[in-house]
Amino acid sequence: MTADLTMDVVVLGGGPAGLAAASGARAAGASTLVVEREERLGGILKQCVHDGFGLLRFKERLSGPEYALREAARAMAAGAQMLLEAFVTRAERGADGRFSLDCVSREGVRRVKAKALVLATGCRERTDRQAFIHGDRPAGIFTAGLAQYLVNVQGLLPGKRAVILGSGDIGLIMARRLVLEGVEVEGVYEIKGEPSGLTRNVHQCLENYGIALSLCSTVSEVRGRRRVEGVTIARTDARQRMVAGSEQAIACDTLILSVGLIPENELALSLGVPLDSATKGPRLDQNMHTLVDGVFACGNAVQVSDLADYVSESGEIAGRAAAAFALGPLRERVLVPLKAGPGLLYAVPQFVDAASPTPVVTYFRSNSSLLEGARVTIRGSACGAILSRAYLALRPPEMERLVVPERDYTGESSIFVELEREEREAIHG
Ligand SMILES: Cc1cc2nc3c(=O)[nH]c(=O)nc-3n(C[C@H](O)[C@H](O)[C@H](O)COP(=O)(O)OP(=O)(O)OC[C@H]3O[C@@H](n4cnc5c(N)ncnc54)[C@H](O)[C@@H]3O)c2cc1C
Repeated sequence: MTADLTMDVVVLGGGPAGLAAASGARAAGASTLVVEREERLGGILKQCVHDGFGLLRFKERLSGPEYALREAARAMAAGAQMLLEAFVTRAERGADGRFSLDCVSREGVRRVKAKALVLATGCRERTDRQAFIHGDRPAGIFTAGLAQYLVNVQGLLPGKRAVILGSGDIGLIMARRLVLEGVEVEGVYEIKGEPSGLTRNVHQCLENYGIALSLCSTVSEVRGRRRVEGVTIARTDARQRMVAGSEQAIACDTLILSVGLIPENELALSLGVPLDSATKGPRLDQNMHTLVDGVFACGNAVQVSDLADYVSESGEIAGRAAAAFALGPLRERVLVPLKAGPGLLYAVPQFVDAASPTPVVTYFRSNSSLLEGARVTIRGSACGAILSRAYLALRPPEMERLVVPERDYTGESSIFVELEREEREAIHG
């Protein structure tokens, strides 16, 4: 074991969320270390070579690697230390109240101690095991993120003729990427009656490239001994069950899965951090402070986000708050639950700390299919409506954001995010 390292704040994960957290913690005066398991900083953005990142944060249209480089440069210029190719195998809180982490790296095992932790471990992709596909398991089945890594980082093609299962954003982006690289994309098949990805990605990645999107359909079987030789597509009913007799064989050598992302929270669980069953991320307050004192979380580890800019915003908030916690003095939190009402999948944060006078950046998603004409109101149990906004349309893939300015929550026992239908003609905002 190499020498112990003692820091105010340790950030786990060097993606855009972790890097922004490190910048935030340094700006607030805390000694800060980022622990990243890969050899380069930037997280998943390293493989997202298309542009469109950073419009909110940097007011520029950047590619993923450019965005990641900016975040890394900011964090390093702020004085954050980086420990790369390092993996945390154990995290616990010692008797002195500090966190103790075992970090395995090329130098061996190093014990790192920290007064506050920021979990910025991102999310992982669901695989064919979670999508329940029957048949053989030959070579040629990839998650969309792995295909993205092969094409954009390794310069390798996953195959010549591909079927894409699932219409998540990474699958839509990869459908276009594969066509641009000369792969025949047979189509994108989605089990639900509507796309899982953003509407703009359906237009820009599929329609503009003549790639067919088949809704209410799924891959029922994979065929092939050594390599994928084809798949069977079946139609699905309103309850997502396959319709007998609707099967159709398609020849292909590659199956790409884009069937969802899950926040990566094994370390959070080992630290006893309660998770939200809807987001699969930690339950936390507006300072990204989880229900375990001193443990903060941000980015895709909290909820799967649409925009890297939002991920960085949450990182910055978490980093600053972790620094404030680490540098003390210790203060009691007064947690008021923030609850998502009917029609909403979830709302984040799940609590507002009434003892902390900070704005509340609230994110939510609707849970039904396309809802045309809606109003969302944030309401206090005692004070009534705090903020209200009309929407022309809400869809579950589009994450919405409302910022409640700093205010006094004393006297509130709950805060609600409520959704109501609204006539389209009445909508202005
Ligand atoms: C496969 C995939 C492809 C994507 N493609 C696109 C795209 O094309 N376009 C787009 O707009 N968005 C894309 N996204 C969304 C994108 O991930 C987010 O916008 C953003 O990168 C999330 O930032 P993050 O910092 O929360 O997580 P990440 O970028 O995932 O960073 C998390 C970091 O934590 C590290 N880490 C995890 N666990 C540990 C540990 N125990 N110890 C040390 N380090 C650890 C990881 O190595 C990683 O570097 C993609 C997401 C995924 C999962």
